[in-house]
Amino acid sequence: MPADSSTDDPRRAVPRTDALLAAPAVQAAVQRLGRELVKAAVQRVQGRIRDGGLPAGDAVDAVLAALPLTAGSLRPVLNATGVLVHTNLGRAPLSAAAVEAIAAAAGTTDVELDLRTGRRGPRGAAAIDALLEAVPAAEAAIVVNNCAAALALVATALGQGRELVLARGELVEIGDGFRIPDLLESTGAGLREVGTTNRVTLDDYLAALSPDTGAVLKVHPSNFVVRGFTRAVPVRDLAEGLAGTGVPLVADVGSGLLRPHPLLPDEPDLQSTLADGADLVVASGDKLLGGPQAGLVLGRADLVQRLRRHPLYRALRVDKTTLAALEATLRGPLPPVPQLLAAEPAVLTARARAVADRLTAAGVDAHVVAADARVGGGGAPEQPLPGVAISLPPTFAEPLRLGGRPVVGYLEDGRTLLNLRSLAPEDDGALTDAVLEVAAAWT
Ligand SMILES: *Cc1c(COP(=O)(O)O)cnc(C)c1O
Repeated sequence: MPADSSTDDPRRAVPRTDALLAAPAVQAAVQRLGRELVKAAVQRVQGRIRDGGLPAGDAVDAVLAALPLTAGSLRPVLNATGVLVHTNLGRAPLSAAAVEAIAAAAGTTDVELDLRTGRRGPRGAAAIDALLEAVPAAEAAIVVNNCAAALALVATALGQGRELVLARGELVEIGDGFRIPDLLESTGAGLREVGTTNRVTLDDYLAALSPDTGAVLKVHPSNFVVRGFTRAVPVRDLAEGLAGTGVPLVADVGSGLLRPHPLLPDEPDLQSTLADGADLVVASGDKLLGGPQAGLVLGRADLVQRLRRHPLYRALRVDKTTLAALEATLRGPLPPVPQLLAAEPAVLTARARAVADRLTAAGVDAHVVAADARVGGGGAPEQPLPGVAISLPPTFAEPLRLGGRPVVGYLEDGRTLLNLRSLAPEDDGALTDAVLEVAAAWT
């Protein structure tokens, strides 16, 4: 019999699953993440030890390092795309205040209970109050799942079995095959298209009205512009033309700006659109407002009441965490998206220099370049925002995306660009670390 060779055989040294799961730090992870996810990490580590890639003594530390961040698989990503509201990256990042409000509301909460009386209370009343204070031209408001849901509810409640009148040039596809006219028609509303692709007049609208008209709908063509020989009818003129007809005017303003924004002169906002005479406005919560995914409907109290009473509303209403986040977005400090929008070019440049200095000091071929940014999420398509980017060799793009803290930039003219316009200043350090980590892996 040969001398004991088990210590030379890495397989013999593989710690048992129960032993690893019993380590106190691993037990704590089981409490936090659940047994299955931790066991999967244990098995990956055992595989590495078996293959001789890891000393058995490092097993517990390796398991802890292999654990997922949370029991969910969505990961925080650094948005260096220069697109402020990036649909593939979850649109608006929430403010810390909104995240805290979500955490507070996530458990059992008084979303629909009046704690003073112990009786049932109006659901989400505080979020609605915050909306009405932010948009004083509105008499009432409701919140649904997203802007598409708001349109579906409006089309169903006002247009089902009747006609919605809208301009041919506003039959918009928003993205990923989502076409607003298809959505409207799916509710059983008839569409009465007026005007031509490029031009529509008030008379076109008025000539299309009939006893069957449920509403006139104006959709902001958020992600494209028609140039040249064009004409559209402003909300104010439409509202004047419809006065006395009893036909409600509904405007989809898309981006959810509360007030006009100096950098985005062509982007309609909720307050002005209602002040101009729209009876209802609908918008998204997670675009320029910078809040959670939601569909906001504001305007005349009787119309809002009709929508709230419609059975479909129950299928589209939002949960307690959305209400909490929306309220905190409106009442708390300025959320990330409006902050990014307001970024000063000089501040951006100073940030970029600081990042580039750290990178060049470590031998990385990095420099600062001017690079336009965009609002994104179907907002202000023709409005470039001045931005600044860190320019790196093209080989950085993929490893940055695959790193421990994924960074999404873009390739332009053979360089990887990391645009700081879409990144919160407090994430500059994490961005720099991610680049340094990629560079270190190559040396
Ligand atoms: C983005 C957008 C929508 C869709 O909004 P969701 O919140 O994604 O459902 C609808 N209309 C307009 C004008 C938009 O810009």
